[in-house]
Amino acid sequence: MTFAIRRLVPAGPAPAMLVAFASMCIALAAMTTAAQESAPVPGIHAATGRRLVIRNAMVVYGSRRPPFGPVDIVADRGVITSITPAGSPVSTRRPTTTDAVIDAAGRYVMPGLVNTHMHWHEDRQGIPQPVQYERNLYLAAGVTTTRELGGDFEKSRQWQAQSDAHAIVAPRMLVYAVISRGRNETPEAIRASVRDAARRGADGLKIIALDRDQLEAALSEARALSLRTTAHIGVEETTADDYIELGVNSIEHFYGVADAALGGVQQFPASMNHSNEIHRFTRAGELYAQADPATLRATIDRMVAAHVGWTPTFSIYEANRDLLRAQHQPWFADYLHPALEAFFRPSLDRHGSYFLGWTGTQEARWKTQYRIWMDAVRDFGRKGGLVATGDDAGFIYSLYGFGLSRELELHEEAGFHPLEVIEHATWNGARMLGLDDRIGKVREGFVADLLVVNGNPLENLKLLNPYGADVMVVNGRPAPNDVAVGPGDRVEVVRGGGIEWTIKDGIAYHVPTLLQEVRDIVSRARRPDQVPTP
Ligand SMILES: [Zn+2]
Repeated sequence: MTFAIRRLVPAGPAPAMLVAFASMCIALAAMTTAAQESAPVPGIHAATGRRLVIRNAMVVYGSRRPPFGPVDIVADRGVITSITPAGSPVSTRRPTTTDAVIDAAGRYVMPGLVNTHMHWHEDRQGIPQPVQYERNLYLAAGVTTTRELGGDFEKSRQWQAQSDAHAIVAPRMLVYAVISRGRNETPEAIRASVRDAARRGADGLKIIALDRDQLEAALSEARALSLRTTAHIGVEETTADDYIELGVNSIEHFYGVADAALGGVQQFPASMNHSNEIHRFTRAGELYAQADPATLRATIDRMVAAHVGWTPTFSIYEANRDLLRAQHQPWFADYLHPALEAFFRPSLDRHGSYFLGWTGTQEARWKTQYRIWMDAVRDFGRKGGLVATGDDAGFIYSLYGFGLSRELELHEEAGFHPLEVIEHATWNGARMLGLDDRIGKVREGFVADLLVVNGNPLENLKLLNPYGADVMVVNGRPAPNDVAVGPGDRVEVVRGGGIEWTIKDGIAYHVPTLLQEVRDIVSRARRPDQVPTP
């Protein structure tokens, strides 16, 4: 089969070949060509108030239905109004000049991604970083809905309103308030802070590292106020057992789950200092190997039975198992803002930058940790548990949006079928956030949060990466890499893939344009007179 590729850039360093490759581009969207990759798209990009028509699309639905198509999709005032076989009258009637029309022939359309664990940053350790940089990157990675789990609450609420009003170019935002008030906080004070968060308009609560009495107070008050809750459990007197029993809605990361299966405490050495991040992240990588497998499975069973969801955020810890990979991601060349670059530099003064003398043994233990942790998440998902995706980027060599793209690959590595992975990132995310009556599926009556992907993401989830992915080209046409080739065939590899359009509320954002803006932000910030000393 063939599919569209956006950026026909040779995988090697030979950009002059771009024009030569342009002629082989098939099924390009009406407004773009490979040679115009970074040109603005007049009339459609970020334009509000238009009816949107996507023609000739193959569809990945969201909730594990097999792909279908080609279809025409019409969205009016931000809502999908019809999905019909390509060329049928309902989608072709009344074409007007105010319609935005995208030809998706050779492309796949799927729901926008839900990033259930992220943070908006306006600086990294005091060095300013424009938040539009992150908004563009998330949209470019296909993220149409975000859940912020800790940030500048009041500012995020303002951005949320601006995003809802389409006054800014940004994904939809849900803003959770953090409940983590230290050891001196009484249960009554915790209850008051939960009430305060509700009064200030929080969409939910992120609970971090509470003692049992504080946790009882937080979760019972949240339940009384119908506030959703999620937890970064940490290494505490409480484990997942407490959170399951007391009714948390979901769990972040890996903390607390294996802790409930230790049959005691983790085997920390006497030299352990939890305030030292080298100590903390070294020992964290030994956690799952110390859990009793049968008890871990029983903990997973209890999570499933109590409808406690899980956002594992595999990608944010990946540097621990493969530091060189994390430090040399190719998109850093064009997309790593100098504020974030400075933040990533090894130092015990910056959260998540603890890579001083990181050893092969530490990596090997983390590799074991990933195997057991991934098996636990797969077990959880197979038993009916709600698995969602989040990237928690802006720390530990994880770049906004690229982190979520990598997260999807790691869900496949954990043993999920690509259809299940996409379900995690779309429909399951919608369910976790309580938005499952309107987003997460390509369905009539649902919000038009859609991605137009250059290629079939089920064939290669890397196609969703904003940087694109290697695509094999045989005799000038993209082909799956198991295609039969003969001695006379011309075989090449190019960088293709990527998302062409990210559509939120029926408004289409042209991803190459968003990415060009990011490259401009980064190159301006890198000018010598612009880079503040950390
Ligand atoms: Zn986080």
